[in-house]
Amino acid sequence: MKVFTKIKELQEYLADQKHPIGFVPTMGALHQGHLSLLEHSKKDNQTTVVSIFVNPVQFNDKNDFDKYPRLLDDDLNLLETYNCDVVFAPSVDEMYPEPPKESYDFGYLDKILEGAYRPGHFNGVAIVVNRLFHIVKPDRAYFGKKDYQQYIIIKELVKQQNLPIEIIAVPIVREASGLAMSSRNLRLGENELQVAPEIYKALTLAKNLSRNKSINEVKQAVIDHLRRFPDFRIEYVEIVNAENLKPINDWDEGNPIILIATWLGDVRLIDNMELF
Ligand code: AMP
Repeated sequence: MKVFTKIKELQEYLADQKHPIGFVPTMGALHQGHLSLLEHSKKDNQTTVVSIFVNPVQFNDKNDFDKYPRLLDDDLNLLETYNCDVVFAPSVDEMYPEPPKESYDFGYLDKILEGAYRPGHFNGVAIVVNRLFHIVKPDRAYFGKKDYQQYIIIKELVKQQNLPIEIIAVPIVREASGLAMSSRNLRLGENELQVAPEIYKALTLAKNLSRNKSINEVKQAVIDHLRRFPDFRIEYVEIVNAENLKPINDWDEGNPIILIATWLGDVRLIDNMELF
């Protein structure tokens, strides 16, 4: 496994590597969710590049950025064990020699859900992903459905920028408890770890009730379930069309997906489930 911190050295190395190249962008503190993206890429491609970069410009909350887990040595060991080909782990200065000024407009897609609660977040994601795409020049890039809205926005980014990159969505990997794996779970305390799987239970409840109840009734049932646990502070529970994230009022209006964002202590958790 080759590890690079400099753009130029990475690019010189990749120039001689076999295509197709699969790319898995991450912020590190790797878990089985990230490794599932790696496995998908290894299966589909000749060369797989994983990037590890805690991207400051996508954090709208300084506390979240400061407390984001950074475990580079562990990550490199894990990636080596899983036969990753190439790792790119640049410094902030390498990615942003100057403060980045790019501005993206995803219209409706970045105004709702995460976009409404994390101003500037998706612009920051688009800045780093577009730069990484231009550096790595992958044929395919892999994104987890855990960050469902991000996946939709990256597909839109590739369309807007006309990039020859196939975007592949990978299913959410969960703990045995149902809790969606996330680097931020490392910040949950013992009590919070007991409560966190209730998010998955609430999503499963929604799936079981869908079609038999109205969309509003299902949303309310999910909110009622979460409210039984006072440690949650819900930001949103929404049921939308999975293709375009537009709200739906009827089960027949599109492929429905439920998305939840909630605080648990000082950790913000997101999760989602396709209902059909
Ligand atoms: P992150 O390091 O959190 O920025 O995530 C890097 C990539 O891994 C993103 O495409 C995420 O959607 C994906 N990912 C994170 N957690 C999971 C999970 N539990 N299951 C599947 N993919 C995930």
